[in-house]
Amino acid sequence: MRGTVLYAPGDVRVEDRPDPTIEQPTDAVIRLAATCVCGSDLWPYRGIEAIDGPSPMGHEYVGVVEEVGSEVRNVQPGQFVVGSFFASDNTCEICRAGYQTHCVNRQPGAATGGQAERLRVPLADGTLVPTPGMPDADLVPSLLAASDVLGTGWFAAVAAEAGPGRTVAVVGDGAVGLLGVLAAKQLGAERIVIFSRHESRQKLALEFGATDVVVERGDEGVARIKDLTGGLGAHSVIEAVGTQESMMQAIRATRAGGHVGYVGVSHDVALPGEELFFSGVHLHGGPAPVRRFLPELIDLICSRRIDPGKVFDLTLPLEQAAEGYRAMDERRAIKTLLTV
Ligand SMILES: [Zn+2]
Repeated sequence: MRGTVLYAPGDVRVEDRPDPTIEQPTDAVIRLAATCVCGSDLWPYRGIEAIDGPSPMGHEYVGVVEEVGSEVRNVQPGQFVVGSFFASDNTCEICRAGYQTHCVNRQPGAATGGQAERLRVPLADGTLVPTPGMPDADLVPSLLAASDVLGTGWFAAVAAEAGPGRTVAVVGDGAVGLLGVLAAKQLGAERIVIFSRHESRQKLALEFGATDVVVERGDEGVARIKDLTGGLGAHSVIEAVGTQESMMQAIRATRAGGHVGYVGVSHDVALPGEELFFSGVHLHGGPAPVRRFLPELIDLICSRRIDPGKVFDLTLPLEQAAEGYRAMDERRAIKTLLTV
């Protein structure tokens, strides 16, 4: 099969890779319908995160089950399924509490690389969620978004306690931040403010339900949120970047008693204890338990109540994955979908 491998920063290649096979009785092998490039793939692509040797890439996937191991009960060959970046048993105490990304048996959900024609998924019964029947082709991008970016934005909005009567601010106008806007809207937030200085991203945020756009960032951005909220700050802030600046902007934009949902993968963030102590702000986040939300998200997508697939503004064949990475790195694309 063909699959994407990162050899060194900036060096992405699509090459012949071994076809995945069932290795454990709890595995499934799926043929991908589509895959995509994640904002977090850009960290190793930019050399900010080290890799040891050539690494198969990609962890967002939807597709049709081709084969299952002898102990798999909940999914069958021929079903269209959505999975996510960690495999989980969905039965341990941590999973049952809705924290499947911290499952006691967790493993990479796409160990053989999700930017490929086929994929082996461990713990298939706990990890994969079948769609009701074969979805129409135009729903595939939205179902793919559910696999990571939508699930992550949704978790951020839930962690930030977005809901009726609340003002939600979103730090980060990448795909996760934009889908955090969509999630906040679905959860009933009254006012949704996106921090963004990119016209195309502002436009999509407004389409997804944002009510206000703030172009300032850092402490100036915080001052604008205070202006918009009677000097108090937002009730709920979604942090979808993962840098020191974005994290401090999120905490400082939140009112006392409010909630920050942080899902940007943290890179060298160090929080000042004294400021945190006196802020009175709740912090919750980390790798999103996408699996918790998949049944609900699949239902919202298949009944066409949400259209998160709009975050894909570049579609390329898998063979052109390198250009897909480049376009996102240079911020020419919000998110690249790769057709398989
Ligand atoms: Zn578990």
